[in-house]
Amino acid sequence: MTTILVTGGAGYIGSHACKALRAAGYTPVTYDSLVTGWQDAVKFGPFEQGDLRDAARLDEVFAKHRPVAVMHFAALSLVGDSMKDPGPYWDNNVIGSLRLIEAAIRAGCLNFVFSSTCATYGDQDGVVLDEDTAQAPINAYGASKRAIEDMLNNFTASHGLRAVIFRYFNVAGADADGEVGEHHRPETHLIPLMLDAIDGKRPALTVFGTDYPTPDGTCIRDYVHVMDLVAAHVLGLKWLEAGKPGRVFNLGTGTGFSVREVVANSAKVTNRPVPVNEGPRRPGDAVALVSGSSRAQAELGWAPIRSDMETMIADAWRWHQSGHYDR
Ligand code: UDP
Repeated sequence: MTTILVTGGAGYIGSHACKALRAAGYTPVTYDSLVTGWQDAVKFGPFEQGDLRDAARLDEVFAKHRPVAVMHFAALSLVGDSMKDPGPYWDNNVIGSLRLIEAAIRAGCLNFVFSSTCATYGDQDGVVLDEDTAQAPINAYGASKRAIEDMLNNFTASHGLRAVIFRYFNVAGADADGEVGEHHRPETHLIPLMLDAIDGKRPALTVFGTDYPTPDGTCIRDYVHVMDLVAAHVLGLKWLEAGKPGRVFNLGTGTGFSVREVVANSAKVTNRPVPVNEGPRRPGDAVALVSGSSRAQAELGWAPIRSDMETMIADAWRWHQSGHYDR
């Protein structure tokens, strides 16, 4: 079976990607430091513990497993944290990615599928965010991801590396079979925090900012189901296997939901009230991030089939209630 090195395979998106890769006939080898990942989320292939910045450990893992491609998920990914302390974002994300790319090149593994983000676009009021939109990140997380995109492009020119770069919008939901799901410690994401508030694990959800220039005053985001998102990654891998050149794809549905709309949908899906407080804006948040592109649908044949808001919340709620979340 063809082996893929999955950095961050013990995390939320990486663990779902490992499941999708396994189902598509690949062997996903997880490389994860377990700083934010969970070893019991590694269920679909071998596990190698290690830090992205550890070149010797990376060489060992490339030599042992001989992957044909890297899916690079491992990263610090919290907008708020990145504004408080950007250092770890540049160190772990940027320096770590450089060490990974160098190790991959030493091993002759030149195919990359990379997790980038709509946060690289920044705050572009009214501009349709397609892949050709100029990138202007407003937080250190987005800046670190844009730097890695630049780095991948540089190594394409110098070493023939090929990278499919996915710019994610907001990822939500959980595996429909309940094998893996979202679990961050500490949790900072809207939907899991809201589910916590709904079942009393937290007193309330705080809405970050109600004075944004949007119809209801709260930020607008484009949510995409994690299963749809990882299905795109398998298509991205096949794109590279077919010998096609590196390419950037947005992964969003093109439909935006305000924070208040997500709250209303959660109340409806769970049939419970959502305790809500209103708080100040969170530094680094863009007003609205909605994908204006259907390039992934047109060129990869991607079809986001579970990304309606109710299905995403229902899948997240089922996972939330399964007890895994209480680890
Ligand atoms: N948000 C919120 N309260 C929270 C967490 C998030 O109002 O406790 C808002 C946040 O300001 C943003 C949206 O929900 O507009 C999604 O935030 P999240 O942290 O889930 O993802 P991000 O957009 O930062 O990747």
